Amino acid sequence: MTERNALSSSLNRVEISRSALRHNFNLCRARAGGARIMPMVKADGYGHGMIECARIFAAEGADAFGVAEACEGRVLREAGIEEPVFVLVGLMPETIPEILHYRLTPVVVDGLQLTDLSRNAVEMDLEVGVHVKTDVGMGRQGCLPEEVAGLVRQITDLPGVRLGGIMAHFPMADDVDSDNTMEVFGRFQQVVAGVEGMLPEDCCLNIANSGGLLHFGFTILNMARPGIALYGCYPEGKNHQGREGEQRLQLAMRFSTRVIQVRTVPAGTGLGYGQTFVTSRQSRLAVLPVGYKDGYLRRLAGRAAVLIHGQRAPVVGRISMNLTIVDVTDVVGEIRRGDEAVLMGSQGDDLISADEVAAWMDTISYEVLCLFGNLNARYYIS
Ligand SMILES: *Cc1c(COP(=O)(O)O)cnc(C)c1O
Repeated sequence: MTERNALSSSLNRVEISRSALRHNFNLCRARAGGARIMPMVKADGYGHGMIECARIFAAEGADAFGVAEACEGRVLREAGIEEPVFVLVGLMPETIPEILHYRLTPVVVDGLQLTDLSRNAVEMDLEVGVHVKTDVGMGRQGCLPEEVAGLVRQITDLPGVRLGGIMAHFPMADDVDSDNTMEVFGRFQQVVAGVEGMLPEDCCLNIANSGGLLHFGFTILNMARPGIALYGCYPEGKNHQGREGEQRLQLAMRFSTRVIQVRTVPAGTGLGYGQTFVTSRQSRLAVLPVGYKDGYLRRLAGRAAVLIHGQRAPVVGRISMNLTIVDVTDVVGEIRRGDEAVLMGSQGDDLISADEVAAWMDTISYEVLCLFGNLNARYYIS
């Protein structure tokens, strides 16, 4: 299926494999045992398309979805998604009516938000299940552990709100060797123990992201919140070896373009802006209509390679806004205008992983997927 937008006739295309998304979801579900799964579909599904991903995961049995802001939840509702949708950040007085109207699940971090929520819910004759987010070691958003009891009491006392769950977030669950996850989890358990008698029976305790789910299974509790694993990358940023016979995640995104010109230049030719690369031999070059405006960042110059005819060709010279040059002198076979070049994903027997691109870009797979996926036309393949 083709997305109907202005980019859909671009030579640069991002293909999303539905079967890889399904495979990754089911692998996560198997890891979670009987616990609920809340796929994180923020950032337009980490660049994979929020609505499309939510539909795929819902069909596989996802229990809820996680987004950042209320407006994303509204888009999911308008697309027919009926599962609970958690709004993880940006609960402000002006977003509360939207949250209530679209039956989204607010995540609260202080009493100010609670009184706003309660007042609006009562006005709309609703009772809304809220989740309390506590900071037990992330050092980012949330209430302090010692504030949880007060918030839980406030939720119990206020009309229009009830306690749906308590959550926290791991800062280092991608690091299998660190003690941090154990410590943070211990603090979360202490917080929960401190309010034990005040919690409703169906209170949903959750803290595990992909790292927790994959590497610290005991942290899953009632629900896991995987993001990156669903899209096929390991949070630690390398291709986790896994045990013998263990199922592996599959990269769901592939980013490709087409060769628009093939040229041969003599030795001593400077290439592109700044003439940062000068050919040392007669060279065959392929010109690609992709550049930093497509998320193929300048940082990749002199580091990245692309796949052409299943072989690696290095990126040479600076990457410009709309053009990239690759050296195909050593590629076996005749390169022609129109040939496919793969910037990320597989071609032939080789694969350029998101983690490999991330290493070239000095970043993490998450950012690569958001950049490529959200800046280019997406096509879904089965
Ligand atoms: C984004 C996010 C996740 C998912 O993290 P991954 O590392 O992608 O699995 C889980 N929980 C919260 C609160 C998040 O913001």
